[in-house]
Amino acid sequence: MDLSIVIPLINEAESLPELTAWIERVMTEHNYTYEIIFVDDGSTDNSWDIIEGLRAKNHNIKGIKFQRNYGKSAGLNEAFRAASGEVVITMDADLQDSPDEIPELRRMIIEEGYDLVSGWKKKRYDNTFTKNIPSKLYNAITRRMSGIKLHDFNCGLKSYRKNVVKSIEVYGEMHRYTPVLAKWSGFKKIGEKVVMHQARKYGVSKFGINRFINGPLDLASIMFVGRYGKRPMHFFGLLGSIFFIIGIGISVYLVIAKIMDSNVALTNRPGFYFALISTVLGMQLFLAGFLGELISRNAPGRNSYLIEKKSGL
Ligand code: UDP
Ligand code: MG
Repeated sequence: MDLSIVIPLINEAESLPELTAWIERVMTEHNYTYEIIFVDDGSTDNSWDIIEGLRAKNHNIKGIKFQRNYGKSAGLNEAFRAASGEVVITMDADLQDSPDEIPELRRMIIEEGYDLVSGWKKKRYDNTFTKNIPSKLYNAITRRMSGIKLHDFNCGLKSYRKNVVKSIEVYGEMHRYTPVLAKWSGFKKIGEKVVMHQARKYGVSKFGINRFINGPLDLASIMFVGRYGKRPMHFFGLLGSIFFIIGIGISVYLVIAKIMDSNVALTNRPGFYFALISTVLGMQLFLAGFLGELISRNAPGRNSYLIEKKSGL
């Protein structure tokens, strides 16, 4: 199968028929073998009925319906498990992303050897203050922290090599960071393509201003897990040692000072409290490191490596 088109959605009933017709047209023009996987993320309108209606007319259309709203990441993750196309395209259901971009996104994977191609909404049709400006800032930070040179991490329209979607797990609110997840899994060739973008035709945006609080927190945790997830002691142990050594150092100094001049009460010196706090903090960090190691040793998939090639086995 050439293509899996993955579309997570919640309450997008009005858009679905138009979107489907548009995708079908592009697929027929290029003679692709394909599937469209709709993930209904707990819609309360009649989105699911529409999906079933569309499936009755075209069996390339498949649907997954969640019992309740689990979020866009969960939707993508579930569809990634089910996808069987050589190239997997993700797009939003609200007609803001254009299916006409699909052939080029696929070509870049197949012919240019990209592992992941992200859309770049260079000219964006969203609210300037609540979306466009904060998103510039957010993209700059993500670029800096992840070392991935993309302009638009949060673009819903992306294409992936099949291996990539089968080896990443999109949990929490990590749908914004799939390029970072792919990079941590060892996929190096990540590119971007300028894509058309349109104003939302029907319905309303499903993400509010809280994305700008959650987004940076998710980035911090993804960077941490990527770097230290398998060796937490290297992070906590180092910090713990620094605090512990500082604490012990100050204590030794205080004891010597006390021996030299026994008139000053130890507890009257600010250094005493620094030493106390620093030593305790250092030990606590060590404990956190040990707990982290216990958790990561017992975590499922701790020895699952991604093998690129094998020979003679
Ligand atoms: N979406 C989803 N689950 C959610 C929120 C959003 O599946 O909990 C879908 C939504 O229906 C749309 C896509 O994710 O297909 C992007 O959402 P939206 O267009 O509201 O985001 P925006 O374009 O405003 O960033
Ligand atoms: Mg949208």
